Amino acid sequence: MRPSSYVLCVPLPETESSLLFHGYSGAVDLVSTRIAELLTGPGTSKGRLKDRLSTETLAHLAARGYVTEKSVQAEQAYVVELGRRVHEVMQRHSSPGFLVVPTYACNLRCPYCYEKGLRQKGKDWMERRMSSEMIEAAFAAMDRLAGTAKRRKALTFYGGEPLQKANEATIRLLHKRAREKGFEHFSAITNAVDLASYEDLLGPQGKISFLQITLDGPPSVHDRRRFLPDGGGTFDRIVRNIGLAMERGVRVSVRINVDRTNAGRVAWLKQFFFEKGWTRTHLFRAYCSPVHGSVCGNRGEGGFASHAEMREAIQGEERKNEGQESPSSFQTDGLTPALQKRILAHLSQTGDLPFWRTAFCGSNMAMYLFDPFGDIYPCWEIIGRPEHRIGRYGPGLLTLDPEALRRWHHRSVVQIPACRSCPYLFFCGGGCEAFAYRATGRFDKPHCFEFQRHFQEAALGAYRAWKDRRLETTPHRGG
Ligand code: SF4
Ligand code: SF4
Repeated sequence: MRPSSYVLCVPLPETESSLLFHGYSGAVDLVSTRIAELLTGPGTSKGRLKDRLSTETLAHLAARGYVTEKSVQAEQAYVVELGRRVHEVMQRHSSPGFLVVPTYACNLRCPYCYEKGLRQKGKDWMERRMSSEMIEAAFAAMDRLAGTAKRRKALTFYGGEPLQKANEATIRLLHKRAREKGFEHFSAITNAVDLASYEDLLGPQGKISFLQITLDGPPSVHDRRRFLPDGGGTFDRIVRNIGLAMERGVRVSVRINVDRTNAGRVAWLKQFFFEKGWTRTHLFRAYCSPVHGSVCGNRGEGGFASHAEMREAIQGEERKNEGQESPSSFQTDGLTPALQKRILAHLSQTGDLPFWRTAFCGSNMAMYLFDPFGDIYPCWEIIGRPEHRIGRYGPGLLTLDPEALRRWHHRSVVQIPACRSCPYLFFCGGGCEAFAYRATGRFDKPHCFEFQRHFQEAALGAYRAWKDRRLETTPHRGG
């Protein structure tokens, strides 16, 4: 018997207890720190376990997967096979995600834009817009890719800037044809500068019901980062259009792209959102995202290496202004709360199958982005770079490249050699493939993005929420 290589320990501060998670059995247990250290501490040996644990405890730990008779190699082989099978099942049940890029052109010139590299292709290339023939061809391809399964049909507009005024005819045709094809849910990643031109397309039913919009700080900061080609600012227009969208029942997620130059202005935005009354509606949410650059490697000035690094910078700035607490709050790091939610679901689960994540995102399952040139991409981080496309479409044409599909849609965490021995693997999924490629030039490398640190924080938060929930639902005795 030896400790499994897939034991995760989360010490509970100010107690003598720790949470133990098992990386592939799905077990979670509250144990004494002594036991946790025996299983995960340095120098754990076969002899020590037997000497220091009762037969009963050892049997219990074995039943939960924390100790095993398998060799390190045999256990890893088991994990690889488990991951392969689970990923296959998940892929079979996943709905394809469809996005359209009506054009790569944008009406802004943000200095940190991923498109900087693409602009070298020239004005004509950037401004090519999806023709009506290509729109028909894209829907024909989506019909084939979706197959016969009756699944929720959703379409996302992406770019460039999809909802710029110059795209009006294209977007209206895309929306009309999508409705005729049975699409019900629409969303857009937009800078919202020209959103008023699409007012009648905004709404909860069969219209664009979700928007991701970026604001980077107060006008003096935002307008220096997200400006028009002539240098004009956009803050006021965007704010007006966020209000307009929510009046029409659209859910808006405001993203704040944070680097070291605006980390100190996040607090201003918190206050601003509160004063606008936005934080009191369920339609609104906001979150920070580190300016990390994309495959082109354009991290810009003062970018962060991870969410945690960004959060520290924001909190550091907030501490400087202690005493000026903002009346509203939002997640300064969108990653940990999402992970916390998943771990809470894991803790609250009553069924047999754990909520494993065998891949990082839809790009490793069934995501398809259609661009105006007839290229199909699996991920928005690499669009416009034909070397990364997974297929081609056009009138009467749909071809998929099996090798590229294997690289993207079939990339599960157990296909990344460095992840196979990682106890976090089925919580993490192996990280972003595009970022791994940018950092290493290889697709089969991990992109940890400080996942272990996020997990430790998220697991603590999830455990506290789980305990609170149990207290709420435990009936009280007596009066
Ligand atoms: S709005 Fe988006 S696509 Fe347009 S320049 Fe800014 S970051 Fe790039
Ligand atoms: S990306 Fe890093 S944290 Fe995630 S499974 Fe792989 S090695 Fe572990």
